[in-house]
Amino acid sequence: MQLILMGAPGAGKGTQAAKLVKKYGIPQISTGDMFRAAVKEGTELGKAAKACMDAGKLVPDEVTIGIVRQRLAKEDCQKGFILDGFPRTVEQADALEKILDELGKKITCVLNINVPSEYLIERAVGRRICKKCGSTYHVKFNPPKGDVCDNCGGELYQRADDNENTMKNRLNAYEASTRPLIDYYKKAGIYKEVDGRQEITKVTEDLINVLTSVNE
Ligand code: ADP
Ligand code: AMP
Repeated sequence: MQLILMGAPGAGKGTQAAKLVKKYGIPQISTGDMFRAAVKEGTELGKAAKACMDAGKLVPDEVTIGIVRQRLAKEDCQKGFILDGFPRTVEQADALEKILDELGKKITCVLNINVPSEYLIERAVGRRICKKCGSTYHVKFNPPKGDVCDNCGGELYQRADDNENTMKNRLNAYEASTRPLIDYYKKAGIYKEVDGRQEITKVTEDLINVLTSVNE
């Protein structure tokens, strides 16, 4: 299964991708996570991405497309994958189609987690992530039991770009560059959406129901 998880920043893509990884045993490919790892390691890629991420702008297409091309060629993507946060522009979507053509693969389904903009700043600002295992929490909607990660005891941190100001830019970037992909994939006949305002477990249930119907 080759899936694209779409949605605005803070819609719940990473949270749901983790559930789908467990259920279907295919890897999550998050361009945001890849950029954050590169920033941490101080690589050239990290240096190129950092200024854009801090400003809430998109990293240039050629950089982003390059890392996805390399990642999709890896062995663990043979049985399928879940793209989380990619593509985010029409140019990235066109490039993805070419990359998959070369690999002899096709997108099975584009799953959009639909969440109105008034929910998104609160979701992002309250997000906490485990430094060790990457588990995602929310101070109000999905709080950890204590001060550390429930899963591994790791320290929790808040992303530098999860503040109200940067979120405004990220939401603008979403409206200008990413929302047009909804029509793009509707036209391709592979678009599905679920109501992302619901509780996390209900959103997961809806996503799995959609995937079951697609695979029948
Ligand atoms: P994305 O990957 O789309 O940016 P995340 O999955 O990291 O979004 O979710 C953003 C924040 O919202 C996290 O703190 C997460 O715990 C919380 N969250 C995710 N899904 C829901 C939901 N259905 N209801 C309430 N909060 C949610
Ligand atoms: P995310 O973790 O998906 O919220 O992404 C965090 C930041 O990484 C974004 O605000 C962008 O600066 C950058 N980024 C992640 N994915 C992409 C992408 N597909 N295209 C361009 N920039 C991206």
